[in-house]
Amino acid sequence: IGTTHAIKVDNRLLTSDPDIYAAGDCVENTDILTGRPCYVPLGSTANKQGRVAAINICGGNETFPGVLGTTVCRVFDYCVARTGLTEHEAQAAGYDVVTVLTGSPDREHFMPDARVIMLKLVVDRLTRRLLGVQAVGPGHGDKRIDIASTAITAGMTVDHLANLDLGYAPPYSLAMDNLITGANIAKNKLDGVFESITPMEVYQKLWNKEDFVLLDVSSPQEYEEERLPGSILIPIGTLRGRIHELPKDREIVTFCRLSIRGYEAALLLKAAGFQNVRVMDGGVIMWPYEKVHGMT
Ligand SMILES: Cc1cc2nc3c(=O)[nH]c(=O)nc-3n(C[C@H](O)[C@H](O)[C@H](O)COP(=O)(O)OP(=O)(O)OC[C@H]3O[C@@H](n4cnc5c(N)ncnc54)[C@H](O)[C@@H]3O)c2cc1C
Repeated sequence: IGTTHAIKVDNRLLTSDPDIYAAGDCVENTDILTGRPCYVPLGSTANKQGRVAAINICGGNETFPGVLGTTVCRVFDYCVARTGLTEHEAQAAGYDVVTVLTGSPDREHFMPDARVIMLKLVVDRLTRRLLGVQAVGPGHGDKRIDIASTAITAGMTVDHLANLDLGYAPPYSLAMDNLITGANIAKNKLDGVFESITPMEVYQKLWNKEDFVLLDVSSPQEYEEERLPGSILIPIGTLRGRIHELPKDREIVTFCRLSIRGYEAALLLKAAGFQNVRVMDGGVIMWPYEKVHGMT
C-alpha cells in the first residue's frame, strides 16, 4: 500500500507480489511533473493501465509513465477542466511560478456559437516550462486542456507553445488560440514587459480602501453593461487626449473586458512617463466578485 492508501505498483504495474499486477482505481499513480505519488482515479487512466498490465501479464514489457491529473467535466453549461499542477500545487512542489489569467471566445467572436473560455496558466519562472492549465466556461476548454497536456508531457516552454502550429478556421478556433495568447502573456510577464495584478489583489486593495486608480479602458457601452465597483472609464481611443486627467503619483491599474486593451493602455501610460502602472489579469470577464450593471 502506498502513501496515498492505494495499491503501490511499479511502472510495469506490478505490485509487491511478483504474481499480482494491479491497475485502475485501486492503484496509486506517479505525478509526471513532481515524480511524487498521487491518487487520481479516472477511466482514462484505468483503460490505458488495463492494457499495460495485460501485456505484462502475457510476458510483454510495457510501462506506464504516470499522470498529469488531466480531468474534464461538464457542470451545467460549463466545461471545467484541468491538467498538470495548480498554482498552489506547483508552489508546494518548490516551483517559483508565474501565472496567467486569460479569457476569450473559443472561436471567432462573429460565429454565433462562440462561447467564452477562461484559462489559468501556471508556468515555471526558471525554465519557462508550462506546468499546468485550468479551464472554465461555456466554450470548448477541453480542447485547450488536451493541447496543454500534450505540451506539458513534451516539456514545452511557453516560447514553444506561443508558436505552436494549431489549426485555425473561424467555426472552430481563433487565429491566435486561447492557449497561445496565454503563452504570449506568460512570455511578456517573464520578460518583464507585462506587470500584472490579480483580480483578488485588486479586490483586496478596494476592500482596504487603498488610494489607487482603477482604470477601465473599455468602450462606454461595455462600461454601462458591466463594470467594476470603484472603476473610472477612459476608453482606449481617447486615452492619449485625456492622459492629463490621470495622476502620476498614484498607482494605476488598467483593464478592459479581456485586459487586451488594458495592456495597451499600460504600455501607453508607461511611454508617457507613468511609473506605477499594472494590468489586471483576465479583465472584467474574469472578475469573480460582484459587478455593477446599468447606467452610471
Ligand atoms: C459517476 C461517475 C462518472 C465518472 N465519469 C468519468 C469520466 O467522465 N471520465 C473518467 O475518466 N472517469 C470517470 N469516472 C471514473 C471511472 O469510472 C473509473 O475511474 C473507472 O471506471 C475505474 O475503472 P476500474 O476498472 O479501475 O474500476 P471499476 O470500473 O470500478 O471496475 C471494478 C469492477 O470490479 C467489480 N468488483 C468489485 N468488487 C469485486 C469483487 N469482490 N469481486 C468481483 N468483482 C468485484 C465491480 O463491480 C466493478 O465492475 C467516473 C466515475 C463515476 C462513479
